[in-house]
Amino acid sequence: MLRRTKIVATLGPATDDPTVLDGLIRAGIDVVRLNFSHGRADDHVRRAENVRSRAEALGRDVGVLADLQGPKIRIERFRDGAVELREGAAFFLDPALEADAGTVEGIGITYKSLPDDVGPGDVLLLADGQVSMQVERVEGTRIHCRVLLGGSLSDSKGINRQGGGLSAGALTEKDRADIRVAASMDADYVAVSFPRAADDVHEARALLADAGSRAGIVAKIERAEAVGAIDEIVVAADAVMVARGDLGVEIGDAELPGVQKMIISRARSLNRLVITATQMMESMITQPMPTRAEVLDVANAVMDGTDAVMLSAETAAGRYPVRTVEAMTRICLGAERQRATLRSTYRIDTRFERIDEAVAMAAMYTANHLGVSAIIALTESGATAQWMSRISSGIPVYAMTQHRSTRRRTTLYRGVYPVDFDIIHHDPVRVVQDAIDVMEKRGAVGKGDLVVITKGDFSGVAGGTNSLKIVRVGDEPQQSPLS
Ligand code: PGA
Ligand code: MN
Repeated sequence: MLRRTKIVATLGPATDDPTVLDGLIRAGIDVVRLNFSHGRADDHVRRAENVRSRAEALGRDVGVLADLQGPKIRIERFRDGAVELREGAAFFLDPALEADAGTVEGIGITYKSLPDDVGPGDVLLLADGQVSMQVERVEGTRIHCRVLLGGSLSDSKGINRQGGGLSAGALTEKDRADIRVAASMDADYVAVSFPRAADDVHEARALLADAGSRAGIVAKIERAEAVGAIDEIVVAADAVMVARGDLGVEIGDAELPGVQKMIISRARSLNRLVITATQMMESMITQPMPTRAEVLDVANAVMDGTDAVMLSAETAAGRYPVRTVEAMTRICLGAERQRATLRSTYRIDTRFERIDEAVAMAAMYTANHLGVSAIIALTESGATAQWMSRISSGIPVYAMTQHRSTRRRTTLYRGVYPVDFDIIHHDPVRVVQDAIDVMEKRGAVGKGDLVVITKGDFSGVAGGTNSLKIVRVGDEPQQSPLS
């Protein structure tokens, strides 16, 4: 059985070892994430080049996702390393303090406007909530706080405000420069961190276009405001990420499970892709097997309908990157075998907007009810395959196209597998036969199997899909396939 749920693996120091990188590609990663919060631009460029050349050598299409840092607010550095903060102690945050002058009494911060954005009573969460403090008063640039939850605090940890509402725009100067880097490496997807509304996504898209990139945009849902604006953000983007690290801090962990299910459902309903991220296999950073809680978490995300599950430090800096991907694959497959995820009532009573969309829906309805072995979408842009992947099914969808950029885009689509295929014949019967031959050679279909194929009248026309054909592998083209 093929895994339908896609795996996004973050690259980092642990994956720079060529045997690890090859191991990850062999283990079946679909998309790699370059985390621009860490490392230098040339590290990311080099990693993108490496993964693409190794994927090509191993006969795989792997997508590249450039994840921008965004306006993550961080504390600066301590003069003598980490400090221990005790509950009830006074502590200040001050953007005017020198960057490496932090002590047990207070520390600098990277975001100049934080003193204007907070007031007495606000709760600030540091290091993903491991330390929290309440604002007592703001004097000039200095925010005086009282520690609520004590603990160890080290350099450059993140700061969130409980309930959200910080005014920092989504795209920083660094992000603008990194967008140009992402364009230069021809990234397939770019992730925008901390968008508040659709406009942040539109702005990123305009900047990408200026830089000559047509990358898909992943909007990371990690602010409380973004949850309130979920539909407009989903529609503005190509994909969303349930960014559970920051989101959990802002909205509180108790809200997270419900919000995760809501985001996945909205994305699927609005024909967008969705990645579920952060701490999915966290214990495998240091341990060779996942906890039962992690197994259930990954499986539940799959059952909720996520397109992809993501690994962060597990692959970027963990001790067992390849084992982690293998374990994740096993869990996804187990979850996908549950019957509940194989049938669909999606869009059963809505109107379709477009002909290619209608053909995609008809193909899935037919495939699920007739019992076919494979669905083939002869596609230019991948749009038909994307619509198909919104429908629950246990049947693989092969996106067959000569365009490498389309193949790499589809690496994120649940249940869709990219296949390199160039249309060389003009005779439509021959085209279908050529496609089936390629699939037979791959071992994806065999004699006697039923296959559903969608295509347009002309190759090279995006959005041109207008027909659906059902064939039995091995039958002569002129015969009726069901006779
Ligand atoms: P990050 O985003 O890893 O870039 O912080 C994901 C998250 O917040 O969950
Ligand atoms: Mn985040």
